[in-house]
Amino acid sequence: MARYTGPLCRLCRREGEKLFLKGTRCTTEKCGVERRKYAPGQHGQSRGKLSDYGIQLREKQKVRRIYGIMERQFRLYFEEAARVKGITGEVLLQLLERRIDNVVYRMGFGANRRQSRQLVRHGHFQVNGRRVDIPSFLLRAGDEVQVIESSRESTVIADNLAIAEHRGAPEWIEFYAQELKGKFVRIPTREEIQLPVQEQLIVELYSK
Ligand code: SF4
Repeated sequence: MARYTGPLCRLCRREGEKLFLKGTRCTTEKCGVERRKYAPGQHGQSRGKLSDYGIQLREKQKVRRIYGIMERQFRLYFEEAARVKGITGEVLLQLLERRIDNVVYRMGFGANRRQSRQLVRHGHFQVNGRRVDIPSFLLRAGDEVQVIESSRESTVIADNLAIAEHRGAPEWIEFYAQELKGKFVRIPTREEIQLPVQEQLIVELYSK
């Protein structure tokens, strides 16, 4: 599956807000949004007012960028969310939260979602004892994610965990640092996901 490999700060600057795509750098004065408070590109400083469509589009792009999903796959998530019972926008975010690369990030194994995706892709994790190297793998309530035996000495993972200790695991995840293991206890509620997005705008965009 294709993925965006360009500069991450550019994505935040395009959305005009911090999307926290990098990790510790995002909370320092080196943050791209802090240093240049305008959109990237030649016309970045002279962009006019957005239309309703433009606002909806930007909201969708924002969510795509936070989770690192390409357009085609994001559309599939939306279609799946629309099929399932519940509030479509909320179900969409819950689907994205269930991705193993996101959960690996939430557990603190990766510094950000992009790195977490790479760690998964390189086969560093198992789910319920079986190795999983597909970043889009969706976890179910009760699934256990653990660093595989041969990767337990990884300094990258150890360094990330040391930093992530400060932010702690979210309520829907149980984390056992000694065992390099976490449990995806349940699907989070919309309030628990705590993302500054208006998912209803995405529903409106795709419902046109
Ligand atoms: Fe975004 Fe982080 Fe770059 Fe700031 S440092 S612009 S929050 S990715």
